[in-house]
Amino acid sequence: MTVARGRTGTSGPAARPPAPDPSAPDLPAPVPVRKQPSSAGPVTARVLLVEDEPGLLRALFINLRARHYDVSTASTGREALATAANRPPDAVILDLGLPDIDGTEVIVELRRWSRAPIIVLSGRASPGDKIGALDVGADDYVTKPFSMAELLARLRAVLRRDDPGPAGVTEAAVGHCVIDLVAHTVTRRGEGTAAAEEVVRLTPTEWRILESLVHHPGQLVSSRQLLTEIWGPGHEPRTNYLRFHMAKLRRKLEDDPARPRYLLTEPGMGYRYRP
Ligand code: CA
Repeated sequence: MTVARGRTGTSGPAARPPAPDPSAPDLPAPVPVRKQPSSAGPVTARVLLVEDEPGLLRALFINLRARHYDVSTASTGREALATAANRPPDAVILDLGLPDIDGTEVIVELRRWSRAPIIVLSGRASPGDKIGALDVGADDYVTKPFSMAELLARLRAVLRRDDPGPAGVTEAAVGHCVIDLVAHTVTRRGEGTAAAEEVVRLTPTEWRILESLVHHPGQLVSSRQLLTEIWGPGHEPRTNYLRFHMAKLRRKLEDDPARPRYLLTEPGMGYRYRP
């Protein structure tokens, strides 16, 4: 148990929100139903924070929450792996010196299925630790003591690196909706010159599915790949999750949801975004 954990309301089975829609039985637990932190509705990045020192964990948690990140916490390596599998993170901040398994081992396990960027925190001065962590898949490294501003800047940087669409594409369109892949917003263009733009609100899960698809324009993205990326390993058979969220996405984005032109189903295979 960690100092910050009880305050997050987002990590651990006890804090699971109820399914957002009673018409969707068997919905996955990881779907968060909290309100978006900002009125503009961008979907914020989900950060897994792994640190066994309670004071530091708490300070990091407060700073990340203040910047509207969706934060999960863990204070051991095993807890980190379980939390990541339960709520796949967009980025991980990971202390290398953990009480149970080494942080490097956590990176190796995460990299079996996740490509979320990992920033390592360590008090160890040895360059060997840094190289070891980077070799097994960490993306960046901050040595303790570090400045909070520097860590936050590095987090923004790895999230940006992870984010660009194909060949630097930062925008995609689904009918009259414009998807801003950098700002994490969807806007529906009004018809006619005087019509105002309208913000389309997506849940974090809808956003993750949409983002995965538009990052591969024209390509088949398999159900297995989407399920693993969004819900973590072990959810591959749950194609009903995807059907449920894809139907909601189409209702929000497609001009005629019953005859989708952009978000296509490939029966038995997966989904395809047709630009
Ligand atoms: Ca430590």
